[in-house]
Amino acid sequence: MIILDPGHGLYRSRGSWVPQRNPFVHGRDSRMEQVQWDGTPHSSYVIEDFITPYIAKYCAQRLDYYSLPWGSTRPFPGTDVGDSIGESGHPRWMEGALYFLGECAEGNPRGGDRVRDLVRRPLWASSRRPMIAISIHCDAADNPEASGTSVFYKSGSDKALANQIYGNISEVREYIGNRANPVRTPLSNWAWVLHMDPGIRCLLIECLFFTNYRDAKLLLDERSLEDIGKRIADGMYQSLVGGM
Ligand SMILES: [Zn+2]
Repeated sequence: MIILDPGHGLYRSRGSWVPQRNPFVHGRDSRMEQVQWDGTPHSSYVIEDFITPYIAKYCAQRLDYYSLPWGSTRPFPGTDVGDSIGESGHPRWMEGALYFLGECAEGNPRGGDRVRDLVRRPLWASSRRPMIAISIHCDAADNPEASGTSVFYKSGSDKALANQIYGNISEVREYIGNRANPVRTPLSNWAWVLHMDPGIRCLLIECLFFTNYRDAKLLLDERSLEDIGKRIADGMYQSLVGGM
């Protein structure tokens, strides 16, 4: 079993449903500009919440091809469950994992739904006892020049898997950015790592920067999301078959 976790998703904030990550659009000077979400499901906005389910969907399709069983913390677009309307009034694939997986007893209630969503994911993943649990994100930075993909691993024993996945992704020149250290350990306070059972191999992948103009164009192209998703799955397959 492999658990996929498409990052973020709509959550309840002071009575309204909003993405967890700020929307960006192509602005002046070939730069990305932060904007307010107007509530439309489909637009030219680059919103991390709505990109990660596509990457995970194609990753899962590839895992099916390898006959590797998987689960996901969020449903995918283009599926019966994912496209059905959730309690937000939007398709369920756009919502955070909390509303798909059910209530979470833990977490800081002062943080509201967003924190409960972040904590619910690793708790559920741990309960499935997966071989690998992988959270899929896109990156952001104040510096619009920051670009490319990074793979974070929890412990040294996961480094070979992280290198395998990064190696597959970096075969495409456009996915390589200017990160000095694209394969590295994460901050230990990340919920995905902090609340994961210690024995579970745990990765977090930041697929390109939605704050970078060049990367954002790729993130708005479903063919790139499909390609990245497949490359992530290939890395897991190669690692499991190779005994890494
Ligand atoms: Zn993220």
